Amino acid sequence: GWRSRASFKLIELNDRYGLIKKGMSVVDLGAAPGGWSQVALKEKAGKVVGIDLLEVEPVPGAEIIQGDFTDPEMVDRLKQMIDGFADIVLSDMAPNTTGHAATDHLRIMDLAEQALIFAAEILKEGGSFVAKVFQGGSEKRMLHMLKTGFSVVKHAKPPASRKESSELYVIATGFRPERMKPVL
Ligand code: SAM
Repeated sequence: GWRSRASFKLIELNDRYGLIKKGMSVVDLGAAPGGWSQVALKEKAGKVVGIDLLEVEPVPGAEIIQGDFTDPEMVDRLKQMIDGFADIVLSDMAPNTTGHAATDHLRIMDLAEQALIFAAEILKEGGSFVAKVFQGGSEKRMLHMLKTGFSVVKHAKPPASRKESSELYVIATGFRPERMKPVL
């Protein structure tokens, strides 16, 4: 069975946008307890690597390390694990909420932007990026990067995402490394 409710969000996004294909190299940021990695493997991803602050019970077929994605050393390790290139970077990372909406918003957007910068360094041309973001507020900088670096950028709220929550997912496909570089 799926390890998380979150699994269904990725299943729905994948059904709608056809993101994960056989043989792809997938990075799963904020992987615990492993639901998205399970979905990627079910879709026959060739390689799945991930990271989470929390320990993740081994997911057979995936390589998930415990650590903080904002630590550059961890980012280097992930790059090595994926052999330098990925077809898709997924980020379901969410910081612990403080209860202060504006602070929570800033922190999640900060993680999403760091995930995007990482994706820009390792995605193959034509690759995809999916990240959890929050509705509202200023995401101008990130949106500018996305629209420059990817041919198609969409936002979606999968049905499995609770209506009360302001989470959304950004889905960016068709990575264009040459156009992204100047805005990094
Ligand atoms: N997609 C996962 C699944 O299906 O099992 C659920 C992910 S959960 C919603 C968000 C995760 O992001 C949490 O496990 C949290 O520990 C992780 N996270 C938050 N900040 C992080 C960071 N700086 N580095 C690594 N993981 C982080």
